[in-house]
Amino acid sequence: MLDSVVPLGTEDVPVDRALGRVLAEDVVADRDVPSFDNSAMDGFIVVPGPAGRRLTIVGESRAGAPADAPPREGEAVRVSTGAVVPHGEGGVIPVEQVTEEDGAIVTNADVPPAQHLRRSGEDVERGQTVLHHGTRLHAAELGVAVIAGRASVTCSLIPRVAVLSTGDELRPPGAELGPGQIHESNGITLGALATAAYGDVTLRQVVADDPHTTRQAIKGALQAADVLILSGGVSVGPHDHVKPALDHHGVEQRFWRVALRPGKPTWFGTKDDKLVFGLPGNPVSAMVTFLLFVRPALAKAQGADPTTTRIRARLTQDIPRNPGRDEALRVSLDEERNATPTGPQGSHQLRSMLNAHGLAIVTAGDGAARAGDEVVVELI
Ligand code: AMP
Ligand code: MG
Repeated sequence: MLDSVVPLGTEDVPVDRALGRVLAEDVVADRDVPSFDNSAMDGFIVVPGPAGRRLTIVGESRAGAPADAPPREGEAVRVSTGAVVPHGEGGVIPVEQVTEEDGAIVTNADVPPAQHLRRSGEDVERGQTVLHHGTRLHAAELGVAVIAGRASVTCSLIPRVAVLSTGDELRPPGAELGPGQIHESNGITLGALATAAYGDVTLRQVVADDPHTTRQAIKGALQAADVLILSGGVSVGPHDHVKPALDHHGVEQRFWRVALRPGKPTWFGTKDDKLVFGLPGNPVSAMVTFLLFVRPALAKAQGADPTTTRIRARLTQDIPRNPGRDEALRVSLDEERNATPTGPQGSHQLRSMLNAHGLAIVTAGDGAARAGDEVVVELI
């Protein structure tokens, strides 16, 4: 599936708008940071020497207003944290280690050379690549981009996502329910997961189980989005119209059905560079297959590494293996990475997603995975 994901284009983004975006370039520092030697303390710049000296205060170096010259023997220059230390030869004696009187200080401690100096380039060196292509920009990355000299960064475009929920039984949140009707929750959960995966949900729609309606809705969604997520209607029932409608619009099936529980009916196809996911309608199956298929695809479309959400953890209880399908078990994790199932695991039991930190993959086979066994966990 990931092989058929084509990265989106790029655009320049101001740093104050770039949270969560993925870099589409390397960021190289245009200067040393700090760009000048400066003081790590509030205190006085003095010529290095022993305690007990009386030094005349001859000037001040403040943040943004450097002193003209370093102190000579017998002199001290008042300095604030982060302010320039001229030539960087002296040392800084903290204000707590002096007695100040009549325009002079008495040093109450030795001052070794270069004491409490922060040298230029100690954080970042000019020409250094500080951020790499494919990095997701969080607070620290944005801060580093700024100190490297940037006001904007080239980022991958945000994938536009359409979420279509199919089913004649579906009613909007809060609606009165008639016989056999249910509240439509996949539009909410899948929309939220897409947003959390840094997608832009441009369309969310409920679609009746009817061939014409399904075709119309898919047509609109293919226009509005780069990634189309459908839920329901991809099984083999007489009211499952999604696959023929996708075929009608020239969406090419790449796979249908996976050896996964929950998630067996999952469908994936492409049309040009657009990705189409037909997810099972069951609320848990829809979320699980989003996390295991759609989320990595959204990451790759943005040029990000889709594999960073995997860890290993240990099961806290025996889990019978499914003979034919890998099982995505909803688990909570403690700080020692012990994985405990969240409760009943039916694909219709949405509460099993509450407090689930990850999906523990219990591989298909005979017998059981044992308490203490290591499993791969896809973090949610
Ligand atoms: P389907 O895949 O269409 O056969 O649906 C499987 C199950 O998921 C049925 O019980 C549906 O009622 C339920 N379901 C389908 N779509 C949704 C939805 N959007 N929200 C909540 N439940 C759904
Ligand atoms: Mg249905």
